[in-house]
This record gives sequence, C-alpha cells and structure tokens, in this order.
Amino acid sequence: MARRKLIYEGKAKILYEGPEPGTFVQYFKDDATAFNAEKKAVIEGKGVLNNRLSEFFMKGLTNIGIPTHFIKRLNMREQLIRQVEIIPLEVIVRNVAAGSMAKRLGMDEGTPLPRPIVEFSYKDDSLGDPLVPEEYIIAFGWASQQDLDDIVSIALRVNDFMSGVMHGVGIKLIDFKIEIGRVWDNDFQRLVVADEISPDSCRLWDIETGQKLDKDVFRKDLGSLADAYTEVARRLGVLPSNVTHAPTKPTLIN
Ligand code: UDP
Repeated sequence: MARRKLIYEGKAKILYEGPEPGTFVQYFKDDATAFNAEKKAVIEGKGVLNNRLSEFFMKGLTNIGIPTHFIKRLNMREQLIRQVEIIPLEVIVRNVAAGSMAKRLGMDEGTPLPRPIVEFSYKDDSLGDPLVPEEYIIAFGWASQQDLDDIVSIALRVNDFMSGVMHGVGIKLIDFKIEIGRVWDNDFQRLVVADEISPDSCRLWDIETGQKLDKDVFRKDLGSLADAYTEVARRLGVLPSNVTHAPTKPTLIN
C-alpha cells in the first residue's frame, strides 16, 4: 500500500492526506496527555473508543443541522474528514464550575453556573493555551465579530445537544471544548465543528454517583481511563449493551 502523506501529528491524533482533494484522514492514537503534555501514557483502546465516540457525536450534530468536518468512519481508528482551516481557538462551554475556572475563581468544583458560559483560549501549547477575551481575538484577526457571534451560537447548540444526549444516559455534561474550522465554497465561508468530540475534551460526571467518566480519570489518577470511556460508549449504545464489564480490548459493533 502506498504510504500516505503525513500532514500533522498532534498529541492524540494524526492527520494524513485524504483520498480526494479537500479531505484528510484523521487517525486516533492511544496516547493520553495532560497538563500540557507533562503527563503522558499510552491507554490501550482509547483511540478506538474516541474514534467511535467522536463519530457518534459528530453524526448527531449533523442530524440536527450543525455542520461538522466529519464525512465517514473508515475503520477502527480512522475517519475521513473535510479539510478545514482551523481557527486557533479552543472554544470552551461550561455548565458547572470545574478545572481551570474553579481554580481561577476559587470556586468549588461542581458549583452549577447561572447559565452556560462560553470562553476562548488561544491555541498555543508553548503558552499553555491562555484564556483570551473577544477583544484580543478580533484585534489580532483570529476571527471576526461575525465569526465569533456564529461560534458562540454553534457552541451553545452543541452544548444543548451534548447535554441532552448525556442526560439521557445518566451523565451530566460539566464542560467541553470544541474547535471550529472554516470551509470555503468558492468565496463563501462556512464554519463547521472540527477536531473531535470525545471524553478527552469533555467533563462527564455520572448523575447518580458523581463518578468522573472523562480525562480527569487520567489527570487525577482516579482509575482506568479505558474503563471510564468504555462505560460512556456502552451507555450511548456505541458498544453492545451486553458488555457488563469493561473489556481490555473493546468489542465494537460494526
Ligand atoms: N479542554 C480540552 N483541551 C485543552 C483544554 C481543555 O479538551 O487543551 C477541555 C477539558 O477537558 C474540559 C474543558 O475543556 O472539558 C475545560 O477545561 P479547563 O479550562 O477547565 O482546563 P483543564 O482543567 O482541563 O486544564
């Protein structure tokens, strides 16, 4: 088989040139990183689970009219996506105080917020993805005011969708991060949800027990990350419901 051209290798994924112009193949690795890659591990099966989970969420968004970069899943670890121009922002939506917000404001983790809050970080690992106000984003030309209005509206729709889906399986969506890409149709620009949506980029707490089912399990050494992600996938029907315990190598539905 001809070797594919590597476009970019990130912490958890690799992008290869796709089969058609304007497409990429997104490969999900088993690598887990936290604290700006200071903590690293290989979690067997994580890439397979995140490929499936991201497919599930992206398809769901498409079904309710929110455009994404997702075209189709190719195999256990790869999906075909549209090539987009990534806006260099991490778009974070929060429903409950946790993580950096709780720390910055001295709030107890788990404090409900009066309404969903959208915030932006500038995507730059060497700077630790600093929080930036809209003023910076517009002044530095990373996005226009119109883009930002559209991004906030997309982010809040994604929040409603994800919160509802998760609530249906007994999970509270605490917060999440998405990335937004630009797609050009001739001179006309559209914004689409890009990158991935998975427990790597969300905080997910069991509604009954408060158990963490997301990357905090790895960040805070709370147990098996693969078991937590398998539980999310199982509840969402992405894994067969007769899996009563988390297998080391997940069995996946075709
Ligand atoms: N997040 C992410 N990538 C990042 C930073 C944050 O996916 O580089 C997600 C994180 O998993 C959480 C949300 O964005 O669901 C808010 O993260 P926070 O700002 O609290 O930062 P953290 O505590 O994760 O450093």
